[in-house]
Amino acid sequence: MQNLVVLGATGTIGRNTLDVAARHPDKLRVQGLTAQRDVEGLFELCRLHRPRYAVLVEPAAAARLRDLCRDAALDCEVMEGVAAICELAAHPEAGQVMSAIVGAAGLLPTLSAVRAGKRVLIANKEPLVMAGALLMAESARHGATLIPIDSEHNAIFQCLPSPARCGERPKGVHRLILTASGGPFRETPLAQLEAVTPQQAVRHPNWVMGQKISVDSATMMNKGLELIEAAVLYRLPADRLDVVIHPESAIHSVVEYVDGSMLAQLGQPDMRVPIAHALAWPERWESGVGGLDLAALGRFRFEAPDERRFPCLRLARFALRQGGALPNALNAANEVAVEAFLQHRLNYPGIPAVIEEVMDAAAGRQAGDDLDGILALDAWAREAAAAAVAELGRSLRHA
Ligand code: NDP
Ligand code: MG
Repeated sequence: MQNLVVLGATGTIGRNTLDVAARHPDKLRVQGLTAQRDVEGLFELCRLHRPRYAVLVEPAAAARLRDLCRDAALDCEVMEGVAAICELAAHPEAGQVMSAIVGAAGLLPTLSAVRAGKRVLIANKEPLVMAGALLMAESARHGATLIPIDSEHNAIFQCLPSPARCGERPKGVHRLILTASGGPFRETPLAQLEAVTPQQAVRHPNWVMGQKISVDSATMMNKGLELIEAAVLYRLPADRLDVVIHPESAIHSVVEYVDGSMLAQLGQPDMRVPIAHALAWPERWESGVGGLDLAALGRFRFEAPDERRFPCLRLARFALRQGGALPNALNAANEVAVEAFLQHRLNYPGIPAVIEEVMDAAAGRQAGDDLDGILALDAWAREAAAAAVAELGRSLRHA
């Protein structure tokens, strides 16, 4: 029996994780759940899964959850703040930690789990982009086990020679090919992209996901972040990492070996598949998802991504090749730009425009190898991005 801690429990990945865990009560006990402020959502999950601990970042939300748990006679200790999340992620009794907070906010909790030598199931890709070298070095030093949840990186993990290990360059691998659906705007005429709304951007054709990653999928920044994530997890240079658009989202990625063999993992576009794989690894458990009906699918399509349509992919490739301060700056600027877009303060083409401006300004800056340096660069890039958003907003209003 293993204890499971779910960071970001109220999110899409968090809920899918609990769905899988609940199918295996003989193997997993839900020990702790965390969220930012969604009191009702976390309370409902506490009633269903009976964790020993629950944490909300916001104190007022935590106070309210404490009352709700007491009134419902739940034996759950409710804590508040980021430090409490970090403590739970490193709890001596925690066996597996699902890292599923969205964005850079997940860095400290993920680092905490890594430094405690946990088995960390990592969905939260942004910390790998902003602080990949630090996370991998700390993981090696503290004997943590990282298992990727992102469907592409999990697919690659499954196709690597066994036993696969993140942080080591796999033997005999020539190239990793990440598949991408192309998102909701794969075929939208370029001239119409100017006017797309947040509602259109978050409507993904194949996957149900949180808002931020849904916008990232529309711009293909998600695939750009995933290229950097792959370089960090599998230690391959930019010229050994490729992206191909595969609109059916049935093949989740491909490993090409030096002998020309290509191994791929297939499955339904349902995150419970990679989640169950990671929870069970090296065993296999039921996920609640069946296989694909290949005959019904009929055929698979592939096409090269067009960087004019998806400038965010070009920017991420550039950041990957240049390294230094750029991946962290790209990630921070993207988070600020996507939030502004979701709040109607920035139009859709403004997202890559803001990121490019921040990357240009970041070019001469120090990368910041330790945690303080990484956080300082992240904070600087957020300020620069906010200024760029305000500037673009002004010029749009005057246009
Ligand atoms: P959601 O937006 O659905 O959920 C985010 C979770 O993080 C919620 O529990 C939220 O709490 C919590 N959270 C948000 N901000 C903070 C904060 N500042 N401090 C602490 N907790 C916070 O995201 P997803 O589940 O879609 O994605 C989670 C991560 O997994 C992302 O990094 C994403 O890129 C990655 N991922 C997601 C996939 C998917 O299919 N959804 C696929 C592959 C990767 P609250 O509800 O209280 O706001
Ligand atoms: Mg993915």
